[in-house]
Amino acid sequence: MKSNKKPWPLRSTHGIRDRINTNPDFQRPPVWGRAQKQLLVDTILRDYDIPKLYWRKVSAKPDKYDVVDGQQRLRAIWGFFDGEFPLQKDAEPIDGEVVANLHYEQLPDELRMRFDVYALDVVVLEDSDEDEVREMFLRLQNGTSLKAQEKRNAYPGQMRAFVHQLASHPFFASVGFANSRFNHDLVAAQLLCLEMAGGPTNIKDADLNRMYADNSQFDAKCSDAKGVQRVLNILAETFPEKTPELERFNVVSTYCVIAEVQKQYAFDQVRPLLRDWFLGFEAKRSAQEELPDDEVDPEWAAYKEKISHSTDSADSLRWRMDFMLRSLLELHPTIQRKDNQRAFTHVQRLAVFRRDKGHCQLRLTCDGVKLAWDEWHCDHTVPWTSGGKTTVENGRAACSPCNLSKGATPV
Ligand SMILES: [Zn+2]
Repeated sequence: MKSNKKPWPLRSTHGIRDRINTNPDFQRPPVWGRAQKQLLVDTILRDYDIPKLYWRKVSAKPDKYDVVDGQQRLRAIWGFFDGEFPLQKDAEPIDGEVVANLHYEQLPDELRMRFDVYALDVVVLEDSDEDEVREMFLRLQNGTSLKAQEKRNAYPGQMRAFVHQLASHPFFASVGFANSRFNHDLVAAQLLCLEMAGGPTNIKDADLNRMYADNSQFDAKCSDAKGVQRVLNILAETFPEKTPELERFNVVSTYCVIAEVQKQYAFDQVRPLLRDWFLGFEAKRSAQEELPDDEVDPEWAAYKEKISHSTDSADSLRWRMDFMLRSLLELHPTIQRKDNQRAFTHVQRLAVFRRDKGHCQLRLTCDGVKLAWDEWHCDHTVPWTSGGKTTVENGRAACSPCNLSKGATPV
């Protein structure tokens, strides 16, 4: 793979934007909101450095490029040229010139010129095959690389054999990503890592390497081995056909959702709902992605951020699992906790709290007071002792005085 670094004036990149593909198939959709775009433009106008961009040259005469890294910066720059947004309302003056709220066309000539000729450091990759580029992209984005999985596949020990066997599970025929460079082995290793941790955890290269090193005597009949196979069987049954929506980041989070539902909720009730819920969730995500920045629901904007960066971190996975699970419980508020357990789960509480808009629904001693997340009660509408179920539907937000004044008497 040849590469060369050149400074590209912003105006020139804008001039050939039709030949620059900012959305090659291994890229995530754009995730920047207006504030991030404005900050970048402000940074450029103040002549500060911004990080290098990576483009892959895919054809010559005319030259065409795929953006490996930097697509969001490019889109922000082009959007500013095209008048899609002004500078921030509270932008500080630049060189004594007031710039707050100005569009590109309204800038003083000197600043407009500074923007035009500002040089991006662009590394152009030539003669690179798709696997190499994908590898580079993954390294730049996630820190998880497929080459690392190739190396793990050379580890001695039982773990390697078991992961390899998992990767040939029928479910992997339904996922939306190909098995080039042991992609399926990588995801199988990540699922096993999640199973062994009992929930969301870091599943980056270093974590997987440690798992291989610590478990060279891995027993293919242990409970973790059975657990991961059980969830894979459920996934295979839920998605019997090729499902393009099952991208890599989605497979790991959906795995977490199913494992969690199995632990906490009446699973037989949930099982038949999974496929339609997942496809509906993905349809909602695409619909949100079509909206202009300022109309996107803030929670979906946060979700989009979580699936764009550090997707293999415990924090991202935990957040995504809770978000997906809550959407499932909101869609099906009669889903019950397992074995008639009395306490509401964290996600059920969140769904009830949001639905009730954080106000006390009892209104016995209060007037529907606004509740703080740290000190509210999730009350069974039909009391648990009278056979009321622990579901979002049968839950309601209550302030402590109301809930206590209710005593054991059903309201
Ligand atoms: Zn109250």
